[in-house]
Amino acid sequence: MEEILVLAEHRGGELRPVTLELIARARELGDHVTVLLVGAHALAEALRPVADTLLLAEPPEQAFEAELWLDALHAAHAARSPALTLLAHSAEGMDLAPLHAEALGLPLVTDCTALSLEGGALRAVRQVYGGKVVEDLLLRAAPHVVATLRPGGKAEPTPGAGDVVALPVPNPRARRRRLLRHVEAELADLDIADAEFLVSVGRGVGKPERIEAIQAFADAIGATLSCSRPVADKGWLPKSRQVGTSGRTVRPRVYLALGISGAYQHVAGMRQADTIIAVNTDPDAPIFDVAHYGIVEDLFRVLPVLQARLTAT
Ligand code: FAD
Repeated sequence: MEEILVLAEHRGGELRPVTLELIARARELGDHVTVLLVGAHALAEALRPVADTLLLAEPPEQAFEAELWLDALHAAHAARSPALTLLAHSAEGMDLAPLHAEALGLPLVTDCTALSLEGGALRAVRQVYGGKVVEDLLLRAAPHVVATLRPGGKAEPTPGAGDVVALPVPNPRARRRRLLRHVEAELADLDIADAEFLVSVGRGVGKPERIEAIQAFADAIGATLSCSRPVADKGWLPKSRQVGTSGRTVRPRVYLALGISGAYQHVAGMRQADTIIAVNTDPDAPIFDVAHYGIVEDLFRVLPVLQARLTAT
């Protein structure tokens, strides 16, 4: 594949980590990686070393604004004619990718977990039906394709040529919507993303009364308690403790998953942990696909044994 265009994401003047993931994937697929930065030109220095061409679209301070970014995306497409345009499967990417593809009549594949090339055509892996089915698609060869990639991959792009080019955006459209402000979620008691050792509890815990025992276990071994979404939805733990696509993305040294099945929305938030240990009664639970160590057992039988071992001096 010749040229790949990546849309850089930023918020509050900070580069979003998914941008580097997109550039790393683009580097594996294409010969030339062009990165489009709309606004936040202060981030150019961070992006230039990993881009072959960095396009800077005005205005320099612009935060995300769908219609304005869309105009810039169209202009970048016209200027570079990329074989693939890659966006994050984020709120911004989900907003822009279908509008961009539809406006230019381009094929679109969304929420990909992996992208590769086969005989010049793009191959995309996506999970559907809540992660129960994996779809492996070979797209018909097309001169231009648009894809969104689910965040959560490795973000270590290799260096690029580092050319910086100003991108004029002609004839911006009349705005029909405007982002008034970005509201950050309320600050939590602690940020699980900072924890080195997470004990994470899922619906397998069974009852809210049992959370206390898991908290005592986590305290005893010096770990922080986190959870899957059902545990937060039921109010057994605060939402700020939730790991996953609609919770926090964590990268602890150790992630101990207790009674968590391993749905992709959960796994996307913890798969980058250095060591994943899973305890689950079901030997076929998908969490064992990402775990480095697995114990097929009732978690309440495992905890006392683990605690005794880990606290023995
Ligand atoms: P379950 O899937 O019910 O799994 C419970 C597991 O516990 C089972 O595997 C069972 O075998 C095991 N178990 C039962 N009893 C025991 C025992 N005594 N000892 C050991 N193991 C036992 N989920 C998230 O976690 N985070 C998210 O951010 C998130 N975002 C989502 C966003 C969207 C848009 C959607 C649609 C879903 C999202 N989900 C998220 C939900 C996700 O799809 C799953 O439903 C959820 O992760 C399942 O949580 P669980 O593994 O705790 O529960």
